[in-house]
Amino acid sequence: IQIIGAPIFNEKKVLKGAVLVFYDITELKKLELMRKDFVANVSHELKTPITSIKGFAETLLENKEDNPDVLNKFHKIIFDESDRLQLLIQDLLTISKLEKNEFKLIVTDFEIGKVVDEVVAVMSQQLEMNMLNLVVNVEDNITIKADYEQIKQVLINLLANAVSYTPENGEITLVVELIDEYMHLSVTDTGIGIDKEVIPRVFERFYRVDKARSRNTGGTGLGLAIVKHIIEVHNGKIKVESELNEGSTFHVYIPTNL
Ligand code: ADP
Repeated sequence: IQIIGAPIFNEKKVLKGAVLVFYDITELKKLELMRKDFVANVSHELKTPITSIKGFAETLLENKEDNPDVLNKFHKIIFDESDRLQLLIQDLLTISKLEKNEFKLIVTDFEIGKVVDEVVAVMSQQLEMNMLNLVVNVEDNITIKADYEQIKQVLINLLANAVSYTPENGEITLVVELIDEYMHLSVTDTGIGIDKEVIPRVFERFYRVDKARSRNTGGTGLGLAIVKHIIEVHNGKIKVESELNEGSTFHVYIPTNL
């Protein structure tokens, strides 16, 4: 709490009393801290790939290495790390756009089945590479009024996580149904699960249950923060059910008519 005070004198300059104003700055301090944390996190996340790109590029420039396999490996690392950097910047731009209040939703009427088909097509290669089975169960003719690209992003991020955190031969189930005036979308996996205590934290920017593992899966740590934002601007809700070593379900509820 911040207190600002001022004395009050009467006409004869005799002290009569004082005014004290109490400011509750907890929320402000919290925001300030969050902002500082965010900047520190972003810097760290950007530094890691850049250090690696620079290091390998330097080695290549020195021309000391002539084994084609090793050279190939270095080029691949530089490519992969640049890719990571690009993803990270894309996600940061998405987050900052979403956080700006002037952000405009492009709302149209569309059938959710169409979004699902597009996303499944995009994900099919990843699913195959990770030997995961996808079960899709979408109720026919569900039309919603929402931002098409953003709903697609939600689906991509949830499915990408299911792929990242589910070991080979696992199964991912996508269900879309109508519940009253809400569209209920759920993504269930048979993966590593999330500890109950940290479930609320997974929506924080850059929060990862297992930093090393998550970085290897190629995520940016921003996927769920983006998902949460999109759902909030659509007046929806997100809920997680998870059991360690058994799997997780992310439930999304979005009003069909924004
Ligand atoms: P990341 O890019 O690290 O995946 P996200 O914001 O998408 O970032 O997710 C935050 C963290 O939540 C992940 O690092 C992971 O620890 C956990 N997580 C997200 N989805 C799942 C899932 N389906 N199963 C287990 N853990 C998950």
